[in-house]
Amino acid sequence: MAEYEQDLKDRVAIVTGSSSGIGRVTALELAKRGAKVMITSNESKRILDTLEEVRQFSPESESLEADVTSPPCMEEVVAYTMRCYNRIDILVNNAGITRDNLLIRMSDQEWYKVMEVNLTSVFRMTRLVARPMMKQRYGRIVNITSVVGFTGNPGQANYTATKAGVVAFTKTVARELAGRNITANCVAPGFIATPMTDKLKPEAQNAILSQIPLARPGTAEDVAQAVAFLVSDRASYITGETLHVNGGMYMG
Ligand code: NAP
Repeated sequence: MAEYEQDLKDRVAIVTGSSSGIGRVTALELAKRGAKVMITSNESKRILDTLEEVRQFSPESESLEADVTSPPCMEEVVAYTMRCYNRIDILVNNAGITRDNLLIRMSDQEWYKVMEVNLTSVFRMTRLVARPMMKQRYGRIVNITSVVGFTGNPGQANYTATKAGVVAFTKTVARELAGRNITANCVAPGFIATPMTDKLKPEAQNAILSQIPLARPGTAEDVAQAVAFLVSDRASYITGETLHVNGGMYMG
């Protein structure tokens, strides 16, 4: 057994959007490494499926159905986590959506919806966990951004703006909270095979694949390993950074 396999033993982690894709696999990876995980997303059935899997590795994990665009729901996620475990060590802001459209056709609704889910929720959740983390003098925050937050992408003015915003937000959080032993970093996936990218037409998928030096889509596991590293004590001197997981598609 690798020595880091239980490197998150008894840490308490909240993962938003953990019913599917990258969030689900990240929750599983943290649980395998010993963390107690709070599974949250919008959809109750898939949350319970994830919880069942996660509990095989971390029996004390819990779940709560919670829309990240609802401040009372997010307050309840944090309050419930504190009631269950009396601490919060790790926050992974993973929930995200796309509402693609070309700039000239993009509606205000498409713009604001993506802002609410991908950026405002990251601000709200981070603000909520900051207090308990500051009190503990320990915290690990990882925000999931995207390669397109660095490169731009036609049809994704809303999405790319949120993902670039998350990077700058994370740097500010890293500076503000460093004195309390709290790190804040981003993971920037490239093209990862999940329900989000399954929606793309085969031509669009092939066009992206042709830009990836490692010549394959990433997996949710590839991303989860990067998150697990950044929330571990092995990354205790890394803050304000973005770890790119993109098969060489973009090199910062
Ligand atoms: P996904 O499979 O569609 O999963 C998205 C997750 O977010 C789901 O669990 C979904 O829950 C949750 N979610 C969406 N809206 C929510 C809301 N209002 N409240 C609570 N939860 C909500 O997508 P994914 O590919 O794993 O994406 C995960 C993250 O990685 C996102 O931030 C995405 O932008 C980022 N990312 C993905 C890729 C990629 O290639 N896949 C690349 C770069 C970045 P429900 O379905 O239960 O509502």
